[in-house]
Amino acid sequence: MPIERRRWLATFGLGAVSAAAARPARAEEPACPTGDAPLRLQDFRPVSMLHVTETHVSRPRFPVIDVHTHFTFTASETKGVPTGEAMSFNSTAEAALAVMDRKGVKAVVNLTGGSGKGLEATLDAFDRKHPGRFWSCTEPSYGAWLDPRYPQIQADAVEAAARAGAKGLKILKTLGLGLRERLTEGPLVKVDDARLDPMWEACAGHRLPVFMHVSDPEAFFLPIDCTNERWDELGNHPEWSFHGKDFPSHRELMAARDRVLARHPRTLFVGLHVGHDAENLDFVSESLERFPNLHVELGARIGELGRQPRRARRFFEKHQDRIFFGTDAVPPPAGDATPQQIFTDALYEIYYRFLESDDEYFDYAPAPVPPQGRWRIYGIALPDGILRKVYHENAERLLGLS
Ligand SMILES: [Zn+2]
Repeated sequence: MPIERRRWLATFGLGAVSAAAARPARAEEPACPTGDAPLRLQDFRPVSMLHVTETHVSRPRFPVIDVHTHFTFTASETKGVPTGEAMSFNSTAEAALAVMDRKGVKAVVNLTGGSGKGLEATLDAFDRKHPGRFWSCTEPSYGAWLDPRYPQIQADAVEAAARAGAKGLKILKTLGLGLRERLTEGPLVKVDDARLDPMWEACAGHRLPVFMHVSDPEAFFLPIDCTNERWDELGNHPEWSFHGKDFPSHRELMAARDRVLARHPRTLFVGLHVGHDAENLDFVSESLERFPNLHVELGARIGELGRQPRRARRFFEKHQDRIFFGTDAVPPPAGDATPQQIFTDALYEIYYRFLESDDEYFDYAPAPVPPQGRWRIYGIALPDGILRKVYHENAERLLGLS
């Protein structure tokens, strides 16, 4: 049927018109393969023939604070475990501000701001240079992990970071899925390991929220086979697969996280990526009810939220005071490999369209093939009151800006 339809469109010279109506053409898209060979899945990028409203939301209805960006990364690591202070910079403050000003983003939180001298370099390059526009977080450095004094060393580092001006602590999925008993060898360290208790408490003491990434989409824990809905994404990023080996299950990671939330009620936690389980909003909702110290943000998960728009809208209505706007944006070229996170005007416009419009069936990322899974999303048309909270009011309260 689709081939006949395409032939019919081509015959009547309508193909290009229809495609343009359904979706803007992208210059970088390669030509379709020709010949009789079976079409490979990688080459299949169907263009929707729906004639439906396309709302172009160039600016957000209210100013935005994006609580999840990565303008810097810790550069020094041991087999993927951050162990030093050297930083790599993905953008200058000025280049970032150009996008922010065009897209109505009044401030961003740069989560991976590093530690020690690295944090100082981040703060100099962003936060101190343009006060009020950039808020950087510190991260644990596991360089002293093997030192028996590590729990206190890390708690002291949090205190020093708070004094230097860090706005929060970022926990990468390294904890639970990367850090091992002998740093890179031995059993994986559990998310609720008691050696980290002083760190969580120091965050409470210095009023630093913890931006926590624990676990990943459920499909990352399953075999990469013909039933895996993130087959394309795992094919592009095989290192994101946590199937087999000695990795804990998604449920085990969530249970360990819950024990941390329960043990540190004074510490504010932001569960990144919709509480690490955007496929299961019932579970995230229950977690928010169970733990008053938990909040969530949206980074890199509008693909999940937007394919269940009715459930997602109820989630926003119920938890409107505890959801932050976030994108997980990484500037190009570092962000090129993850189109759902690339720090560009186009990315922000998709988020605004999702939150503000009731558009049908559109791309959740600026890419020819939906990069996380082969589906499209629907807008949830949030009312002004909720939009204002999600766009900036909740973040202002969290960061102590209001
Ligand atoms: Zn992130």
